[in-house]
Amino acid sequence: MTSLNQQLYESSQKYIPGGVNSPVRAFKSVGGTPIFFKRGKGAYFWDADEKSYIDYVGSWGPLILGHAHPNVVKAVQEAAQNGLSFGAPTETELEIAELLCKLLPSIEQVRLVSSGTEAGMSAIRLARGYTGRSHIIKFEGCYHGHDDALLVKAGSGALTFGHPSSAGVPAETAAHTIVLSYNDIDGLERAFDEFGKEIAAAIVEPVAGNMNLVKAEPDFLLALRRLSTQHGSVLIFDEVMTGFRVGLECAQGLYQIKPDITILGKVIGGGMPLAAFGGRREIMQCLAPLGAVYQAGTLSGNPVAVSAGLATLREVQAPGFYETLSAKTQQLTQGLTAVANKCGVNFCAESVGGMFGLYFCKEPPKSFAEVMACDRAAFNRFFHAMLEEGVYFAPSAYEAGFVSAMHNSEEIDNTLLAAERIFSSWV
Ligand code: PMP
Repeated sequence: MTSLNQQLYESSQKYIPGGVNSPVRAFKSVGGTPIFFKRGKGAYFWDADEKSYIDYVGSWGPLILGHAHPNVVKAVQEAAQNGLSFGAPTETELEIAELLCKLLPSIEQVRLVSSGTEAGMSAIRLARGYTGRSHIIKFEGCYHGHDDALLVKAGSGALTFGHPSSAGVPAETAAHTIVLSYNDIDGLERAFDEFGKEIAAAIVEPVAGNMNLVKAEPDFLLALRRLSTQHGSVLIFDEVMTGFRVGLECAQGLYQIKPDITILGKVIGGGMPLAAFGGRREIMQCLAPLGAVYQAGTLSGNPVAVSAGLATLREVQAPGFYETLSAKTQQLTQGLTAVANKCGVNFCAESVGGMFGLYFCKEPPKSFAEVMACDRAAFNRFFHAMLEEGVYFAPSAYEAGFVSAMHNSEEIDNTLLAAERIFSSWV
């Protein structure tokens, strides 16, 4: 008998390209049938066939409070009752803007949008408008949404402009993007030496979470800050994933580096479509209606999404929130490493705050090339075996994982026991 899940996937493929509304959901990287979910509560969610899973994806990061947190749900219900959208300013937008500026000293003004992609592409346009330059630097393995200028892969030479990594991106657009290796200070210096006067912005994930988890070396980010200032380029930290995920002060607080623009998403919307870009007042004031850089959105600052975000940000400000979250995440990564070591599996793991990386290799990778050298087949095998056990990790070896405040010892211990059953069967 085919499962309801299987039937839904088959029907969806008739009406939705690939049966999914975002490609990584299709399990292409790991193989098999994507799971259709119907409800979630805390650290768990349930699929169409009522099988439950411990969720380490959390909607790819937003659900730092787990599924359907009562205070977030209440905030959404109350906001919805007062109207779904006005297309005009509201007091809640002021409240979240003020809060973001207070929590992140690098942000003097902020604009709300509805997705990380929108935030990233708007930040790039703003940086180009502010500097009057066209080139941008991005790093291999970092993802900043699917804007044309950012869907670019490395060129073939040591220092060249990139090529589109998607059909439909004009080569001329990609030709303004310089793709460099993550954590490579020499490459960065060469790029600024050669093109410094033409570089509008450098954009970076300060802890990369889209090539598994790769931590930036502090010296790499310091070099990026120094070179950007020296050459009058705008430094953009993409904290869509790390924002309020690695700590209340975000990655910029952990590294003690102030970017010129920060982009945020995921946690700030608590599971609703909300994202933002903000930074130095002088730059932000180049935006319409004050300045010449156009950017707009019918649903920008949507009151229901903002209410979910505010309710989430209220919870994460509780004293000790991130200490507890980090400790739980470490309990998971250290536990998995210990179990793998015991079973002789080539594995390691690391975490920053509530995000983690699992690597089927000896040492945590420091670049895209090192991530690619890990054993993807072993990850895929592990992923499916864990799924069978009722543990849902990201369906790709190249994505970070997330622990929520609702993951407690019971969930983590059960995850470790499942991993031990699997790893011990591998020898
Ligand atoms: N930047 C980063 C670092 C991300 O992880 C993502 C999404 N995974 C984005 C930008 C794009 O955000 P969205 O999917 O909301 O467009």
